[in-house]
Amino acid sequence: MEPLTTRASKVVNKEMTFGEKIYLPAIFSGMWITIKHFFKKNNTVSYPEEKRPVAPIYRGQHVLKRDDEGRERCTACGLCAVACPAEAITMVASEREKGEESLYREEKYASTYEINMLRCIFCGLCEEACPKEAIFLTDRLVDAEFGRNEFIYGKEKLVEKIDQRIDVSQRQIWDNH
Ligand code: SF4
Ligand code: SF4
Repeated sequence: MEPLTTRASKVVNKEMTFGEKIYLPAIFSGMWITIKHFFKKNNTVSYPEEKRPVAPIYRGQHVLKRDDEGRERCTACGLCAVACPAEAITMVASEREKGEESLYREEKYASTYEINMLRCIFCGLCEEACPKEAIFLTDRLVDAEFGRNEFIYGKEKLVEKIDQRIDVSQRQIWDNH
């Protein structure tokens, strides 16, 4: 019968030599390979303590931006959720109350905004769909977690802190509209 590939080799039941029978040459050659690796450069990255550098346009963890006055830019229009191919975004829209003008930029805002990071494929379509320049992907990595629920990021993780703004100018031309 014709072999299926040219890489097929015939199995021969030949008698082992004395060297093969005592296994020592095979053991030493294996140990030699192991010893050589002790002196090679270690390529392992001890994530999460150590992180590889990523490009400034890397599509990592999202941020919900504030405007210059510290107000949340998101107006809960839902376009990002509609654009998301992974159905990873959910939100609840609320009306801005009197006296909350310094918190939310528009009359409508997202009282709840969640992204399921286990569903997200970091495609960036939410960022492209947003008419308010409210959501951006950043060069931050999503943290390793032990529980699935911990990957559902709410506003406390997504909205940038007033005193710790996230620079997204490398990702997009930021025009401060
Ligand atoms: S990056 Fe893509 S998959 Fe992730 S939330 Fe945005 S649209 Fe959805
Ligand atoms: S992030 Fe942008 S697209 Fe998504 S709901 Fe808010 S304003 Fe709309």
